[in-house]
Formats: sequence, C-alpha cells, structure tokens
Amino acid sequence: MKLFFHGGGCGDSCCLRVQDLSVKIGNDTILHDVDLHVHCSQLVALIGPNGAGKSTFLKAVLGHVDHDGVIAFSSPGQRDRRPRIGYVPQSPTFDPGDPVSVADLFACCMSRRPAFLGLSKSMRKTVLECLERVHGEDLIDKRVGTLSGGELQRVLLALALEPLPNILILDEPLSGVDVEGMSVLMDMLDEIRKTYDLSILMTTHDFSMLERYADQVVLIDHTVLAQGTPQEVLTSEPFARTFHRKGGM
Ligand code: ADP
Ligand code: MG
Repeated sequence: MKLFFHGGGCGDSCCLRVQDLSVKIGNDTILHDVDLHVHCSQLVALIGPNGAGKSTFLKAVLGHVDHDGVIAFSSPGQRDRRPRIGYVPQSPTFDPGDPVSVADLFACCMSRRPAFLGLSKSMRKTVLECLERVHGEDLIDKRVGTLSGGELQRVLLALALEPLPNILILDEPLSGVDVEGMSVLMDMLDEIRKTYDLSILMTTHDFSMLERYADQVVLIDHTVLAQGTPQEVLTSEPFARTFHRKGGM
C-alpha cells in the first residue's frame, strides 16, 4: 500500500490523486486500475451500480482498506502533513425510542466524557458552533432517532466538519433524504465547500443533482468507466450501458 504526499502539480491547489488503485478482498478483485483526481474545492460525485466498489474506494482513500497503487494528497500550507479528511458514513439507523440526543452524540464523539453526564457549558457552546455550520443549532436537544433523513445527515456533516477537514467524503448522503431535503443538503455542501475551501468526494445514486452541483462525475464499476463533467458522463456510452440496458441500478 502506498499513501504519500506531493507538492506542486494540480496548479498548486490541494488535491487527491489516485493512480492505478486496486483493492482485493480475499480472492476477489473489488477495484482495479482506478485513476482519479480531485482538485481543491471541487465536488466530485462517484456513481455506479450497487456492488461497484464505490464505498470500498472511499474506504481506501480513508486508509481503512488495504490497496495497491497510489493515493497521494497535497494541500498548500500543509506539505508533509496528512490532510484532514472528514467522513460521513452511509446513514446509520437509530431507533426512534433511543434516548440519545444530538448533544449526547457529540459528547461521545468529541470528548471522553460519558454521555450520561451531559455536556459541560463550554462543550455545549462548541457543539452549537458546530451545528451552526449546518444551520442546525435547533437540533441540539432532539433525539437522533426522531431526526428526518436530512436532519440526520446535517448532524453527521457537522460532526465530520470538526475539526475542519481539507477533504470531505460522504457515502450516499442523499439516500433516505426526501427530494426537498436533497436540495437543502446539496446547497449546504456547496456553501460549505466555498466557505471553507475544501474538496468534496461523495457517492450518490441520485443523478438529478449532478448537473447542478458536481464539477466532475466518475462512473465506476470495479474500474473507472467514464469520467468528466456531469453532461459528458450522463450522455456517455458506458453510462447508458451500465444503467439503461440493465434497466436501472
Ligand atoms: P458499492 O458501495 O458500490 O455498492 P461496495 O464497495 O460496498 O460497493 O462493495 C463492492 C464489492 O465488494 C461487493 O461485491 C461487496 O460484496 C464486496 N465487499 C465489500 N466489502 C467487503 C468485505 N469487507 N468483505 C468481502 N467483500 C466485500
Ligand atoms: Mg456503497
């Protein structure tokens, strides 16, 4: 496994460069010959059928699965330091009867203090500041099991933004979110990447959002089948072959 940093290139903007990536799990080759480039403040959408290896790709970038090939990061001002990566995993499910509040969730993730002791005043202030980034201050005392899909994603996003990352990775943030919630979430991601100058890499099955929000779309099915602007990929032959002839996802 090679994971390293490089300066220069990419017009000196921070980026993620993946070259010849392959991932094997047991005897199965999940990904092979994957090349991909994410430039600073770009939103890159990874699409592909179920089982294509999208989540595995994100885990490889996060360093959670072994791989061959190159995953290289560079970010101006942070040379020789691993970039901070914020990660929003595929939505966990919480029971509506679960007594855990949003504040408790932050307490568990951000401090060593047991949730049942509640938040200290200063910690509560920090959590409110985090939630402010996703316009979610009003969610602090809600129980996580009662949040809508969109609200839960905003809370998970707020967690991933503390500390502020250089690259934000989200695995299917739109699944379980209604159409109105999708626009709210995508507008928020757009605002966040502009405000904090970070790059976003996300997987999605919702192609209607791509033209408006994605700078680059990568179609993957164990390897990269098409890569380019949303328009280029959505009208490409591999896209038609992957989704239309199969009759959907
Ligand atoms: P996607 O996110 O595109 O739906 P995944 O990356 O989750 O695809 O999975 C790609 C393939 O790798 C699937 O066939 C899946 O069964 C397999 N896979 C993923 N993780 C593991 C694992 N830990 N052990 C064995 N097989 C796995
Ligand atoms: Mg997945």
